[in-house]
Amino acid sequence: MNKEYMRQAIMTEPGRIEFRKVKSPGKLMPDEVLLEIKKIGICGSDIHVWHGKHPFTSYPIVQGHEYSGEVIAVGNNVTKVKPGNKATGRPQLVCGSCNPCKRGDYNVCENLKVQGFQANGCAQDYFVLPEDRVVKLPDNISYQDGAMVEPLAVGAHCSSRITELKGKNVVVFGAGTIGNIVSQFVKIKGASKILVSDIHKFRLQKAKECGIEYINNASEESFEEAIKRVFGDEGFQVAIEAAGAEKPIVNAVNHIENGSEIIILGVFDKPAGIHMSFVCEHELIIKGSMMYKHEDYLEAVDFLSRNLVNTKPLVSRMFDFEDYEKAYKYIDQKGSESLKIMMDINE
Ligand SMILES: [Zn+2]
Ligand SMILES: [Zn+2]
Repeated sequence: MNKEYMRQAIMTEPGRIEFRKVKSPGKLMPDEVLLEIKKIGICGSDIHVWHGKHPFTSYPIVQGHEYSGEVIAVGNNVTKVKPGNKATGRPQLVCGSCNPCKRGDYNVCENLKVQGFQANGCAQDYFVLPEDRVVKLPDNISYQDGAMVEPLAVGAHCSSRITELKGKNVVVFGAGTIGNIVSQFVKIKGASKILVSDIHKFRLQKAKECGIEYINNASEESFEEAIKRVFGDEGFQVAIEAAGAEKPIVNAVNHIENGSEIIILGVFDKPAGIHMSFVCEHELIIKGSMMYKHEDYLEAVDFLSRNLVNTKPLVSRMFDFEDYEKAYKYIDQKGSESLKIMMDINE
């Protein structure tokens, strides 16, 4: 690499992104990998930061945690990738010494910092990360799909939290990017009927385009009617809450088959009032699902390279790097009529 300076997009305060010319990364440590960033996805959490509503982010912050890039250089000890390879990386900075880390559950590290939120992300031309967080992308995965690996890994992890999927009927609440992806993952992993429930027609249409057969437009059809129509007497045995709202989780608790599992994936900004007597008397199991582990990234890459997941309908629009603010304004204006917005950095 010979460029001494690079562009960096820095959010100085909510609603303001400045472009700065900063020094490019210097000499690599033996375990480090240097990427030229190609694509960056914007997700719901980023949008909270843009609006100043993310509880655990302070400014200034360099965003960018869903990305793909080309390997430009590697440190002496790196074996996983070489210059010219496509790659992505996990944005999790973990302590390695808390109890969850020690037992391998670093996704729930007690001192977790996520790049783009509590540490700077990759919204710049070049980005350095250690080999252990790098994930190589096969050549048949585009840079656009490479930037989808992070949200896909959320789906991989969430689906792995479910004890048994084979033959189970599943309800997914929320048809945003994550709800859509999780629906695809539970389908690939052997679920029987999958019903996606949302109040936005556009998002439900995208779920259909991605191969999810059953949808419930909750603004037109009650949840009770929908589960009767789709499952009849079979009922449903798995529920995934990917909307972060009270009504869906109440519906899940009130209607799921006794002894079943409910996974919480949505971001709740306030407590939800569920009836604990159902949890008790129906022996419901309510589990959280937090981000992902490295193996979830590998599964996401595997499913992508085998064409098992369909991400094309999810990418609503691409913006040039220097139009970062425009991208957010577009997101604000489109609301639920768009899904993944991506930044094109160097492709
Ligand atoms: Zn994200
Ligand atoms: Zn830790």
